[in-house]
Amino acid sequence: MKEALNKSFSYHEQNGIEYYTVPAFTASGLVIHAFSGRNGGYSEGGYGTLNLGLLTDDDPELVVRNRKKFCEVVGIDPNSIVGTEQVHGDRVLKVTQAEKGHGALDKDSVIPGVDALMTNERGVSLTAYYADCVPVLFLDPVLKVIGVAHAGWKGTFAKIAAKTVQAMAAEYGCRPELLLVGIGPSIGPCHYEVDEPVLEIVKEAFPAWWKTLLEKSNATGATHLDLWEANRKQLCDVGVKEENITVCRMCTYCLPEKFFSHRAGMPGRQMVVITLK
Ligand SMILES: [Zn+2]
Repeated sequence: MKEALNKSFSYHEQNGIEYYTVPAFTASGLVIHAFSGRNGGYSEGGYGTLNLGLLTDDDPELVVRNRKKFCEVVGIDPNSIVGTEQVHGDRVLKVTQAEKGHGALDKDSVIPGVDALMTNERGVSLTAYYADCVPVLFLDPVLKVIGVAHAGWKGTFAKIAAKTVQAMAAEYGCRPELLLVGIGPSIGPCHYEVDEPVLEIVKEAFPAWWKTLLEKSNATGATHLDLWEANRKQLCDVGVKEENITVCRMCTYCLPEKFFSHRAGMPGRQMVVITLK
């Protein structure tokens, strides 16, 4: 039944591991990519079972076992992972073969101070880790360039998704109108209540269309914010075509049997990974 909610992403299950993919990315034939669910791993409690975040208080040995199992199912070498510190900032970093393995199987080697990555080298697995924050994947199918961004509310309003597009254009000559983008499972407007200080930041970040991101709850009168739309619209503002953006629209809070949700009290992390074949 729940899979019916997932009209835009494809669902996969293998050896108890559940993951999701973007049909347009798969159709390109250029990449291996996956957004993880929370089942099929070895962790326990609030990390149960497929916690893929090393920067948590979970047993790191279990996280590494989870990562290896997930990578095996998806078809990626776990040693090729590049992981970042994720500081809710707006810094985008170009990586190459030299960074492979940083943040892959131990937390001390994560790349500090960065929330987004891009590369045009094959076999370099870009990753991000999240519970309610918005994971955004990028593919230039013409120049064969990939990117990933971690966009919580701070990153969303610092426009990290738009800045990743601009960094891919500046570094590799990518044309925004040709980019494919996937916006993954994360907290939906149904469960993202915001207060006045955050609303001020929303207005300042997006003066042209901030009103379209907000919805008043009939039940509580609280204001809810649509982070999916905030990312989608900022991508369109920098030239990405609407029809090239796939939004998963699965809310992590609504689906505790499928995903970790920070706001729902689960400290585990999902992972998104993308590699050029
Ligand atoms: Zn929800």
